[in-house]
Amino acid sequence: MPLVRPKKYLGQHFLKDETIAFKIAEALSGSYPNTIEIGPGMGVLTKYLLNRKELDLTCIEIDKESVDFLNKNFPLLKGKIISEDFLEVDLATINEGPISLIGNFPYNISSQIFFSVLDNKNRVKEVVCMLQKEVAERIASPHGSKTYGILSVLLQAYYSIEFLFKVPPGVFFPPPKVMSGVIRLTRNSKEQLACDETLFKKIVKQAFQMRRKTLRNALKSLNLPASIVTLELLNKRAEQLSVEEFVGLTKLIESSK
Ligand code: SAH
Repeated sequence: MPLVRPKKYLGQHFLKDETIAFKIAEALSGSYPNTIEIGPGMGVLTKYLLNRKELDLTCIEIDKESVDFLNKNFPLLKGKIISEDFLEVDLATINEGPISLIGNFPYNISSQIFFSVLDNKNRVKEVVCMLQKEVAERIASPHGSKTYGILSVLLQAYYSIEFLFKVPPGVFFPPPKVMSGVIRLTRNSKEQLACDETLFKKIVKQAFQMRRKTLRNALKSLNLPASIVTLELLNKRAEQLSVEEFVGLTKLIESSK
């Protein structure tokens, strides 16, 4: 069986290093057996996931050539491969209850994958993934850091995030131009934030759209009442606010309406 030809537009960089693949597959706690692998490619992670008998694995792969490869080489995956775009799959159709996600993500859509994680945050209990190191660091970075951004706040509101290890370009075929990093997200116990979550998301996005401005200026389009506009907190910039401060601010804005 010929190997899959790497396609750039699908973000295909195949991991060649078996030790790293094993380490990534082992980074899943196993507490949530229903596991979805995003973009298995030629199955380098998949085979170690299949070895973990406690897991019930489903794969979602957009690339037909990879799906053919997997079907031929991994008979155990029979009926377990969804040949679709992960971003188009409604997770409710896969199974019920808690799930864990794992994958060496296609780097071009990693942010979109995280927004889909957020949409399904009450089912997605754990995520282990490899992505561009800068993006991994950004997601894990605390407030006060220059790389703290929209996804850091939104994800940290619901998940605790660990940066596990770096991975150099040379262990992939073809090698990507960037360093990679592996992170683990574990759902915290907050079922809901202590504020209107839709407004929270709107405020966070708006605040970071003009990250160099004070919140007072960045949030102008929200037409905040004078009682809010004069708050000391609005002298700060988005990157200086902790998740809790964003929640607090959302609550204040909510109650001023
Ligand atoms: N897991 C493999 C491949 C990683 S490359 C390895 O580690 O070697 C990223 C994989 O994601 C590729 O197989 C690519 O075809 C797949 N992919 C890209 N976009 C996708 C999408 N929207 N939905 C599902 N899979 C996707």
